[in-house]
Amino acid sequence: MKSCKWCDNIFESNVSYQIYCSDKCREQATKEKIAQRYIKTRRQKRKGKNRLCKKCGEKLSIYNDEPLCSRCLINPGEVKKALRQLRGLANDKSKRNR
Ligand SMILES: [Zn+2]
Ligand SMILES: [Zn+2]
Repeated sequence: MKSCKWCDNIFESNVSYQIYCSDKCREQATKEKIAQRYIKTRRQKRKGKNRLCKKCGEKLSIYNDEPLCSRCLINPGEVKKALRQLRGLANDKSKRNR
């Protein structure tokens, strides 16, 4: 009796090296392995490169898939708010001048 490495099903096996209960499970596990390897190599390729934030020039983490650093990714809302405040101030000024 063995348990499948993919779905945890208990199965009988005559072959000692069989770790999956079915071809389907083996296929799924293989696909996942390939996907994992792809993500890993993609990250490793970034290691030597200096990727910089498109906005502030901050060095990007190899785990960051975005063209912006985490700070700039969080900030867009803040930036918009600040711009709105500035515009509001400008409007107040023009009213006062009238
Ligand atoms: Zn299975
Ligand atoms: Zn940035």
